[in-house]
Amino acid sequence: MAETGVFEKYRAYLDVPAHTKNITLLEGSTPLIPVPRLAQELGGGFELYVKFEGMNPTGSFKDRGMTVAIGEAAGRGARAAICASTGNTAASAAAYAARAGMRCVVLIPQGKVAAGKLAGAIAYGAQVLQIDGSFDDALALVVEISQRHPIALVNSLNPYRLEGQKTAAFELVDRLGDAPDWLCLPVGNAGNITAYWMGFRQYREVKSSGLPRILGVQAEGSAPLVLGHAVDHPETVATAIRIGRPARGEQALQAAEESQGRIIAVSDQAILDMQRRLAQEGIWVEPASAAGLAGLAHSLSRKEIDLRGKQVAAVCTGHGLKDPDLIASRMSAPAVLPAELAALEDAILSAQAKPFEGQAE
Ligand SMILES: *Cc1c(COP(=O)(O)O)cnc(C)c1O
Repeated sequence: MAETGVFEKYRAYLDVPAHTKNITLLEGSTPLIPVPRLAQELGGGFELYVKFEGMNPTGSFKDRGMTVAIGEAAGRGARAAICASTGNTAASAAAYAARAGMRCVVLIPQGKVAAGKLAGAIAYGAQVLQIDGSFDDALALVVEISQRHPIALVNSLNPYRLEGQKTAAFELVDRLGDAPDWLCLPVGNAGNITAYWMGFRQYREVKSSGLPRILGVQAEGSAPLVLGHAVDHPETVATAIRIGRPARGEQALQAAEESQGRIIAVSDQAILDMQRRLAQEGIWVEPASAAGLAGLAHSLSRKEIDLRGKQVAAVCTGHGLKDPDLIASRMSAPAVLPAELAALEDAILSAQAKPFEGQAE
């Protein structure tokens, strides 16, 4: 079968204007990785899959929505796109704008964007501007400028972003044969949780598939949907969900309620712990991406959910390579040895972390 991106693959289900172009980097069709050992560690008795959205072309799920948003903008003749971003939207917008031959401007909160994301946006040729303010301030600014100038807004306020992002729900159903019983995912600006819920509901209409219960997870220092009010100075190590005024907050709460799920908050420590556990499965995600599973672990340990016999999909939204500094700053730097066999032997045999005695030579 020929490779296609999400627009071509699911075009029949996308509510987009006829002028929308297919501007694709063959995003989507991301791996759904079974993680039985992690499920066991979390108590066992259920099936657990990681939908690894970090495997999209620019390293996050944002590509699913961006292919459609930029395709729509290009199709109506827009010459430029703009977005506010905690990083991944910037890299994605920059890449798809480049693909479409459009100019791209991104606004990011100063000093709060992970190195790999900033580098991506610059590499793809976007004009990157730092705002001495938060993501929420940056978003307010780009909304205003897009109303004054013919420049396409490609934040998730743009409905075509959600049209593209809902294809992840389609893929889950197509792959598992039905919706999972539970879906857990991180929640920042709340576009993704809204898009998944749209996608599952739409597929129920056309394919008679079921609906999952949705567990949306915020970081404690940045949890407006759990607190019930905006957070002026959101703080969390999970920069992709460091958002105090989620643009799709109402819809996120509705998705949680309608699906009989919930939105909860977990500590940065719990997020980093889950990032490490995922890495032990060979899946390196950025911190925000571990929040969904951290929330699942939290809910299980408090017996707030019962997963016996259930099937759970965890959305891991972005790749660990985007935020390498975090690992570098929290882990010890590699030891430097003289180029001698004895030194190497000594270093390997004295390492306590992963003994390999008993292994064949
Ligand atoms: C954008 C993003 C999120 C949050 O998604 P929202 O749609 O803003 O809720 C989570 N994780 C990663 C890696 C992201 O890039």
